[in-house]
Amino acid sequence: MIEAVASYLNISIKAVDENLFTRKYSADCLGFLHCEDICCSYGCDVDKSERDRILACADKLEPRLGIPASGWFDDEMKDEGYPSGFVVRTRVYRHKCVFHDRKARGCLLHHFANDEGIDWRRLKPMVCTIFPVTWEKGRLLTSPFLDELPCNGCGECIFDAQKRELREFFGDRFGNLSGGGQSQTTTDRLNPDCMLKMNKEEYE
Ligand code: SF4
Ligand code: SF4
Repeated sequence: MIEAVASYLNISIKAVDENLFTRKYSADCLGFLHCEDICCSYGCDVDKSERDRILACADKLEPRLGIPASGWFDDEMKDEGYPSGFVVRTRVYRHKCVFHDRKARGCLLHHFANDEGIDWRRLKPMVCTIFPVTWEKGRLLTSPFLDELPCNGCGECIFDAQKRELREFFGDRFGNLSGGGQSQTTTDRLNPDCMLKMNKEEYE
């Protein structure tokens, strides 16, 4: 059984970095032909609860991956930045995350969920679903990894492209924020209900 992603709602977000509204990336990954899914080259961090959801599908996923479930994840480690307090890393095989779709492109967990009629957001790891947005110490920010990717600067405003997913994981308070690909003032973006603070030094 695959549970909802609501466990992430207990991550408190108090600030949003301004560059999420001004930087761009290619949100249409499959339409971006020159990256070879390089962002999947190092595996990803997965909350323990997400790992358990994925392992619950092992009987169907193992034949598609061709790798036994025992080889999918490293050992779990304590990390208070994740909802369960534990994080695990997906393993890398032949220069790609174990869950990379080697017959097509993209994430096999995403494709598997679609094939099974499951909302892919309930199976694909959250760090991948909201990428290149990430979070740290109560702050949403752009992943530094984006600097290394060929899609950096192409396509859509990061925040606008990921707004639906951010609402899914962090709540409706993000609904009134918009980048629109434009540089805006802090005041323009602030919604009184959000209580988002832009001074990142408060959270470091
Ligand atoms: S995020 Fe960028 S590097 Fe990763 S698959 Fe999409 S277009 Fe390619
Ligand atoms: S879980 Fe999927 S999207 Fe995330 S790194 Fe692995 S293959 Fe890429």
